[in-house]
Amino acid sequence: MSKRVLLAKPRGYCAGVDRAVETVEKALEVYGPPIYVRKEIVHNKHVVATLEAKGAIFVEENEEVPVGATVIFSAHGVAPVVHDEAKARKLRAIDATCPLVTKVHMEARRYAAEDYDILLIGHEGHEEVIGTSGEAPEHIQLVDGPDGVDKITVRDPEKVVWLSQTTLSVDETMETVDRLRQKLPLLQAPPSDDICYATQNRQLAVKEMAPQCELVLVVGSRNSSNSVRLVEVALGAGADASYLVDFAHEIDEAWLHGVETVGVTSGASVPDDLVQDVLAYLAERGYGDLATIDSAEERLTFSLPQELKRDMKKAGVS
Ligand code: SF4
Repeated sequence: MSKRVLLAKPRGYCAGVDRAVETVEKALEVYGPPIYVRKEIVHNKHVVATLEAKGAIFVEENEEVPVGATVIFSAHGVAPVVHDEAKARKLRAIDATCPLVTKVHMEARRYAAEDYDILLIGHEGHEEVIGTSGEAPEHIQLVDGPDGVDKITVRDPEKVVWLSQTTLSVDETMETVDRLRQKLPLLQAPPSDDICYATQNRQLAVKEMAPQCELVLVVGSRNSSNSVRLVEVALGAGADASYLVDFAHEIDEAWLHGVETVGVTSGASVPDDLVQDVLAYLAERGYGDLATIDSAEERLTFSLPQELKRDMKKAGVS
């Protein structure tokens, strides 16, 4: 049996995660520890533990942050009320919300101002969905997958738009939209894709790779929406099995039994070191033949939050 590994590209860090992690690192450099971070800066255990070791303190709410301290809001975005709370507590707030999430917030505000009913496709309880919904709670209803469509009621079927969480499965979202359109034929679409480029590109690479694999390993954390979606996409595209692991040591040797081709990818919040550990684990077990499935080039980068850049300049930090 010739054992081989197919490695998806693109995989791992997206521009929004890169910016959010660097925001915490630079804030630690400029202001010194501790720096408070509201919620996990990105949904990855390893990233959170690494930043904790450098002096970041992760909290759930602003009220856990001492008055006057520095707080960073995570890449997933926050509702306006969270900014108000920070102001009331005199916190120095730095907003690391991914600009592509901010774009969806702006769409929500615009459609709410025009008095639309907004159907937000996303996962109940996910931080991004809570943040986006908070922009216009009286106008937004959550649609959690195709089965959520039946519960929807709107005021005017001619004035309805759908928006979505940025990290969903493209195929499942379109299935939900089709179901919504059967009910609301005049439903309008967002002005541009809400599912972000990074989510789409990682799913495309897995779709290309999975039909050739008996097993697809996705490196990522359980609470990472885009990572969980990659497992679903791999299974949907023909992999016999697919598992999510945070670390190489979580791989069960039994998964490799009778497997000739293993596909490897990672979610948008995963540093590549963790993928390299998985490749080393596989190489030790005879999967040394490695080929890359290259499906898209990514060049996007985002600049750091303005409020931080200003203080970096003053402190002479580059
Ligand atoms: S996954 Fe997409 S929306 Fe989320 S941080 Fe990355 S680029 Fe931004």
